[in-house]
Amino acid sequence: MLSDAVANHFRIIEIQKLALARLNIKTIQDLLYHFPIRYERAGDQKTVAGLVVGTDAVLYGTIHNPQTKKSWKSKRPMSEAWLKDGTGRVKLMWFNQPYIAKMIADGALVKISGRVEGDTSKYIANPEIEGVSELPIGGSDTVFGAQRENDELFAVYPESRGITSRWFRHALAKILKEEVLSLCVETIPHEVLTKYTLPKITTALVWVHQPKNERDALSARKRFAFEEIFVIQTAKQQLRKKLDLEKSYTITDAKAHAEEFTSILPFSLTQGQQNALDSILEDIGSPHAMSRLLEGDVGSGKTVVAAAAAYAVVKTPPKERPSATLQVGYMAPTEILAEQHFQSFIQYFSHLPVQIGLITSSGCKKYPSKVTTHEPTKISKTQLLKWVANGEIAVLIGTHSLISKNVQFRNLGLVIIDEQHRFGTNQRHLLTQKDGLIPHLLSMTATPIPRTLALTLYGDLDLTVLDEMPPGRKKVITNVVGKTGREEMYTALRNELDAGRQAYVICPRIDEPDPRKMTALQTKSVKAEAARLRTKELRGYTVDVLHGQMKPSEKEEMMRALLAHEVDVLVATSVVEVGVNVSNATVIVIEGAERFGLAQLHQLRGRVVRSTHQSYCYALTSSGASSKRLQAFVKAKNGFELAEHDLKIRGPGELYGRSQSGLTDLGMEALTNLKMVEAARTEARKLVENDPTLQAFPTLRKAMQTRKEKLHFE
Ligand code: ADP
Ligand code: MG
Repeated sequence: MLSDAVANHFRIIEIQKLALARLNIKTIQDLLYHFPIRYERAGDQKTVAGLVVGTDAVLYGTIHNPQTKKSWKSKRPMSEAWLKDGTGRVKLMWFNQPYIAKMIADGALVKISGRVEGDTSKYIANPEIEGVSELPIGGSDTVFGAQRENDELFAVYPESRGITSRWFRHALAKILKEEVLSLCVETIPHEVLTKYTLPKITTALVWVHQPKNERDALSARKRFAFEEIFVIQTAKQQLRKKLDLEKSYTITDAKAHAEEFTSILPFSLTQGQQNALDSILEDIGSPHAMSRLLEGDVGSGKTVVAAAAAYAVVKTPPKERPSATLQVGYMAPTEILAEQHFQSFIQYFSHLPVQIGLITSSGCKKYPSKVTTHEPTKISKTQLLKWVANGEIAVLIGTHSLISKNVQFRNLGLVIIDEQHRFGTNQRHLLTQKDGLIPHLLSMTATPIPRTLALTLYGDLDLTVLDEMPPGRKKVITNVVGKTGREEMYTALRNELDAGRQAYVICPRIDEPDPRKMTALQTKSVKAEAARLRTKELRGYTVDVLHGQMKPSEKEEMMRALLAHEVDVLVATSVVEVGVNVSNATVIVIEGAERFGLAQLHQLRGRVVRSTHQSYCYALTSSGASSKRLQAFVKAKNGFELAEHDLKIRGPGELYGRSQSGLTDLGMEALTNLKMVEAARTEARKLVENDPTLQAFPTLRKAMQTRKEKLHFE
């Protein structure tokens, strides 16, 4: 609830209190940080003829016929008058303020300011009014459109029911006049402000709320955007600094081991893969714990890179047990993916005398087995955990259960995390070994995140981007299909199915903040479309569905059925499991393609990228308006290109849920500016380097604490 301080300060009424609470404004400081969404130039609307409903206006003119009335709705007393200028007249209304009519004289010259309301007939609600001795030269009493002189800017604030932009303007004017500003303490070090010519906090607060000109307003906004990213970066860099002090296992001869691994692969690594691997090997060759994020499209070859690193780790004995090996944990987001990685690792490591385990909620497996040396066998969880704890199982692959409390490793050297963005430092510390060492961490994602966003949200990780595909990969043929062309598409789809291939049909997810509503909508469209296809274009084929309302076990079962080709066509929402490799699927049909972000479309297309057959993507759209975007989708070389495109065109909220990122609008805006993000990161790093606990910057420390709570990171 709103603090009494603010309430008393402004003597506000209950409805405004509620509105402020809704906007999460509790203190004077919160008010100061409630920034305008834009600025308007009063001069643009200083004639009656030029009034625009829903905007604020300042008018000069003469008052006509002021009178007290009863409002016809609430029967409460109110004041009314007309304001006339050279271009026309507009009604002024003051609700619940009958005395105003008595205070203004018929024919008085006035300046009024307020919000333009109404539909068929416009009026100005509760305007402020002041008497003027003359009308400004070239003002609204002259010809329409004449330019006025004192073209002041005024701030327009995000409103909430019960509280207007004007209220904020006045509240802030009041605050800024008082001694409050002298109490504001700078969060950004002085040198940094000077270096990037950013205004200091007190100046910036005035400029952001009451700018004299656009340059000042912009300069202030830039400062606050920088501040937001800087505060986050400082927190991340501090986290990083702490991590850098943590000791981990030194993987000696990492490079030689990895080469041994890559030399037996049936292909050679791409330059990008080699660079990524080199960075990883260098990291794990040092006694400090690695923290690295590897970003790359589905199929760009991340798993192979991770496997090479894993190989180097399992070839390395722990110091005190020269005949044993260090261990690797590999965490996948779904059971199916865990199973797929298990199979790949069995192949990758088949010539080595190491044991590989699989742990998911539906059971445990081990390879090689004592009975059949070429196949994995099912074993009990107790048995598996015993072998993990005594270090006999060198590589353990699994879902989230991998990091549950009862899984104890003997010497865990490396943790690989696939598609789990939220693997936090706390989780990592749970993996600290008995010998006090923490494992190296390699995090991987196929979600194309623009560099600025990655640097901000994962600022505590080093970043490697794989932006090329292995050679010889067939490019997915992408077609944008409008209203016509559907028949042709279904014919092509049936041809593929008849040739023994499989397909996905994706139905749009509607952007909707209420998740319950959203799934209801999704489910309906997926189910309806599947039912339609079964009786129409895809009659005779097995069509099944996958959507967010299904239980995890049902989803897993459906993916299994798809892998086993028990299903020809899967109709699904965009939440189809990431990265699942159904190499027989060659067609993806995306309904309502214009509703998806480009990066998201690209990810969907990634579902059919693994096939050795030629694959096809059909982007169905009913609107031609977004065709330019869809053309970018057809042509794009990789997901990052499209993510950057999205960031510029649709804003970061599209890429990454706002609530997830915890950034304000200004912070989001900052993400479109790589230079700014890099500068904030560089400065944060320097600061933390010189003063790890930020002794000299108590305000920054406090700001970080608030940010951390908002961003839910440790
Ligand atoms: P990701 O994990 O990034 O989705 P994977 O590592 O699973 O990609 O690789 C996808 C496929 O491409 C695998 O079958 C893998 O063997 C193959 N592959 C990886 N790197 C190369 C390469 N440099 N040349 C040829 N094929 C490769
Ligand atoms: Mg992968």
